[in-house]
Amino acid sequence: MNSQSSGRKSGQFVLPGERLGVIEEFIPDTGTYVTDGIIHSKVVGRALLDLLNKRVSVYPLVREARVPKLGSIVLGQVSNVQTQNALVRIFEIDKIQLSGFFTGVLHISDVQLRYVESMFGVCKPGDILRARVISEKNMIYHLSTKDKDLGVVYAFCSRCGYMLELKRHEMRCARCGKIEKRKTALDYGRGVT
Ligand SMILES: [Zn+2]
Repeated sequence: MNSQSSGRKSGQFVLPGERLGVIEEFIPDTGTYVTDGIIHSKVVGRALLDLLNKRVSVYPLVREARVPKLGSIVLGQVSNVQTQNALVRIFEIDKIQLSGFFTGVLHISDVQLRYVESMFGVCKPGDILRARVISEKNMIYHLSTKDKDLGVVYAFCSRCGYMLELKRHEMRCARCGKIEKRKTALDYGRGVT
């Protein structure tokens, strides 16, 4: 019996598409796919050849830590707002959720092309904001919302915490009636992805 005919050993690092063996010698298991009788790896990981049960599977390696990059579109929650800046806890990069978070800074000059008087009319703590990373120097992620698709996607009433409804150019709390101002994204309130 030549169960090592594919030349593979357990624990070997494999890439997607790499040949793991043939269906005559192994039963394809998780992390694999078969074309023309040949078993391939579906993921980046470590091959596990179970010679006893004649099974082959691939255990995916933990994805490398994602960090915001220049041009990344990020989603975050506004944590702090001052006259000139807002801090954003980034929890999603290019539509992939993070296990932790990064802090981004949105400066008043990067909000929109038009003049902005104060960050208090742009976003408030608790809001969910979509932005582009425009600088990642020294691990400080500077954000921009200078695009109609960028800006606040969910906003909450600063008085009662209820979600604000966008009606024309007015943000209104459906519960207490408070009117607020935000720099909203075009798809405000219609989902965060
Ligand atoms: Zn309210």
